[in-house]
Amino acid sequence: MREVEVAVVGAGQAGLSAGYFLRRAGLGPGAGFAVLDHSPGPGGAWQYRWPSLTYGKAHRVHDLPGMPLGEADPGRPSAEVVAGYFARYERAFDLRVHRPVDVTAVREGGGGRLLVETDAGTWAARALLNATGTWDRPFVPYYPGQETFLGRQLHTAGYRGAAEFAGRHVVVVGGGTSAVQLLIELAEVARTTWVTRRPPVFRDMAFDEDWGRAAVARVEQRVRRGLPPQSVVSVTGLAATEAVRQARARGVLDRRPMFDRITPQGVAWDDGRTLEADVIVWATGFRAALDHLAPLRLREPGGGIRVEGTRVVKDPRVHLVGYGPSASTIGANRAGRAAVREIRALLAGAPSPGAQPREASLAG
Ligand SMILES: Cc1cc2nc3c(=O)[nH]c(=O)nc-3n(C[C@H](O)[C@H](O)[C@H](O)COP(=O)(O)OP(=O)(O)OC[C@H]3O[C@@H](n4cnc5c(N)ncnc54)[C@H](O)[C@@H]3O)c2cc1C
Repeated sequence: MREVEVAVVGAGQAGLSAGYFLRRAGLGPGAGFAVLDHSPGPGGAWQYRWPSLTYGKAHRVHDLPGMPLGEADPGRPSAEVVAGYFARYERAFDLRVHRPVDVTAVREGGGGRLLVETDAGTWAARALLNATGTWDRPFVPYYPGQETFLGRQLHTAGYRGAAEFAGRHVVVVGGGTSAVQLLIELAEVARTTWVTRRPPVFRDMAFDEDWGRAAVARVEQRVRRGLPPQSVVSVTGLAATEAVRQARARGVLDRRPMFDRITPQGVAWDDGRTLEADVIVWATGFRAALDHLAPLRLREPGGGIRVEGTRVVKDPRVHLVGYGPSASTIGANRAGRAAVREIRALLAGAPSPGAQPREASLAG
């Protein structure tokens, strides 16, 4: 058993940003903090992004604090660019990420400590910064008949490029950016059909800061109420980039309503329409990868974990960074800074900020 002040689970944008601010707060790797990550190399989830998601096609990858990514070839896969940047970053700030280390459970350890159980032993920590992202929990909704489909089904997490679908009919499900990017690529080599639950909303305007803030605020309200977060991207609408405008003009982004059933040969609607298909791609997003926190019983009746800022309301030793409103590269940076500020206060014995209003109101 190793004792540590702070355990950081996950070494993506959120975990590395937290590591940077922990170092700035005077904690060192070893007794101060340990970053644990189960992926084989640096890069967080970016190391798994499909090779055709080039750096130029990513929305925007914000710099980690203290060291810019610098110039990068927009034609190179984001997976390579970001993994290389994160590797340099870990070295520059001596973050000493333990990998591959899989955190299987976090439970109460007594004496104010949390036990972080892994396949490489247990760490006993006074605080936990959870930065496990969503990539490990691809979400596929259930539709009747799904198990009878004779073609291939895959989630975007398993997509490696359009070439293997040449000449096929591919049904792409989902209204997000990933669906749009995949449709544009697949339409070059395959026949495609796009289905979404709600009509997609394309935004012609540039994504400015005010509007980004408003989207983040909506996700924040949900997690404050203990509801599962929506992705920030799901409330922003789809950017009508030049590539998107051209694809719309070619009819690639003509959308049909969601089908009602899956048949062995394809998909079907309750009004009697059917469509044969070889492949169904589920571009239906991800959920927060938080199963290892289950022993702490942090979930609310609404199904989510209530957080104030990044602090879990039910257990102020636990912070979720890169969760809900901070699930973007810029949000993850800010969350790392804010979480470390609160954890420093916690380690110094200051009362949890969440406890203050109640005490004040009882006193007053
Ligand atoms: C296809 C796609 C494209 C995106 N493009 C953009 C974009 O252009 N700009 C943007 O701002 N955002 C983008 N996002 C959102 C993106 O998820 C965030 O921006 C950011 O990369 C998430 O960082 P993170 O640190 O929270 O999580 P991740 O990068 O997912 O890192 C989590 C880390 O935790 C580790 N981990 C998970 N569970 C465990 C465990 N139990 N034990 C140990 N380690 C564990 C994983 O191995 C991983 O390294 C995109 C998301 C997707 C899916």
